[in-house]
Amino acid sequence: MTFQAPKGTFDWMPPRSELALSVREQMSAPLRLAGYRYVETPAFEDTALFARGVGESTDIVSKEMYTFEDKGGRSITLRPEGTAAVVRAVLQHGLHHGPLPVKVWYSGSFYRYERAQKGRYRHFSQVGAEALGVEDPALDAEMIQLAAEAFASLGLTGVELLLNSLGCAACRPAYRSALQDFLRGLDLDDATRARVEINPLRVLDDKRPEVRAQLAEAPLVSDHLCEACKGYHEEVRSLLRTAGVAFTDDPRLVRGLDYYTRTTFEYVYEGIGAQTAVGGGGRYDGLSEMIGGPPLPGVGWALGVDRTVLALETEGLVEANTPRAGVEVYAVPLGDEARRVLFDLVLELRGAGVSADLAFGGKGVKGAMKGADRSGAAYALILGERDIAAGAAQVKHLASGEQTAVPLAEIVTMFKEKLVK
Ligand code: AMP
Repeated sequence: MTFQAPKGTFDWMPPRSELALSVREQMSAPLRLAGYRYVETPAFEDTALFARGVGESTDIVSKEMYTFEDKGGRSITLRPEGTAAVVRAVLQHGLHHGPLPVKVWYSGSFYRYERAQKGRYRHFSQVGAEALGVEDPALDAEMIQLAAEAFASLGLTGVELLLNSLGCAACRPAYRSALQDFLRGLDLDDATRARVEINPLRVLDDKRPEVRAQLAEAPLVSDHLCEACKGYHEEVRSLLRTAGVAFTDDPRLVRGLDYYTRTTFEYVYEGIGAQTAVGGGGRYDGLSEMIGGPPLPGVGWALGVDRTVLALETEGLVEANTPRAGVEVYAVPLGDEARRVLFDLVLELRGAGVSADLAFGGKGVKGAMKGADRSGAAYALILGERDIAAGAAQVKHLASGEQTAVPLAEIVTMFKEKLVK
């Protein structure tokens, strides 16, 4: 019997895996420049953290979680998203008692039992950022700019930023009832009717055409914002404009998670399948309290690595973002003594910052030279018995076929000069 990666998952294999790694690095580079610190939390948490911190009425919690009982009888869930766990960790370690905002970022795997299709997987990868403890429109604008910067640094031109405000504890209840009144008058199935009562904003996010068609006249949150929320949102928009971050106001944008307040945003990309969101986030001022913490406002985002790679493939940006793989120097020993000498020399080259590999497995000169060609190396370093006696190795430039004898003692310096920038 042979095994395959489980349904809804796939393996990242070279060179695509190297592209994904470079995407993660480029997503985090702007964050590091802006003072965000790296955190790592477990791949699983107590189920209750997500039930409370994401919301019972969300699809994530009601349908998509990988939940199981561990051998100690605890209910455990593979993390479906990062924010609840990061806020849990910040509270647990008391970072919120230090300088504010607490700025952190993460990168890792997330798990949702979703209907698998292109761009929607059961195991996927996100880079995320959170800034906690401060409510300041400039912080929201910084967050939004940092993700825009990450997509731009990858060369992507087709990412559109959608922006909205969801209001706050003062103005959202009135909007919520106005929306409920409207939704109760529509022709909806039972599950959606139930959702109208628990989480009416989520109904606005329904993707089914028969539901969408009925939502054209739905009341908009932007018409119900209180003066404070209006002023806050206007300031975020103005800061973004000054910073040259293009955005589209989308008064219908709501997010799948319950804890969002005020600023909410999504980065969308058309042409990578039915799933268009490559990233999203917003302000979540009530989350800390929902998971038993003190009032602690926060703003953050998560960017999808898998879909961003699909977008790069769509825009022909694969090569530009895939780092050079393989080694520069490929050493070919002819005989046991040559292997001993080259083994040491290869380690010395690496120590000097020159990437180098060795033909393992005693292939003989023909097989080893084939290995050198396949490795993509610029140079082969060939050593036979006669070379050892002469104290020199043959350095062959593989593209031109040019070959010269170089004294063994000079090899490292020569390659260092040629190859290390
Ligand atoms: P969310 O927490 O749902 O807003 O997710 C943030 C980002 O993660 C999305 O914009 C997607 O790019 C990515 N993402 C979420 N769910 C999946 C999934 N099932 N498969 C692949 N990417 C996903």
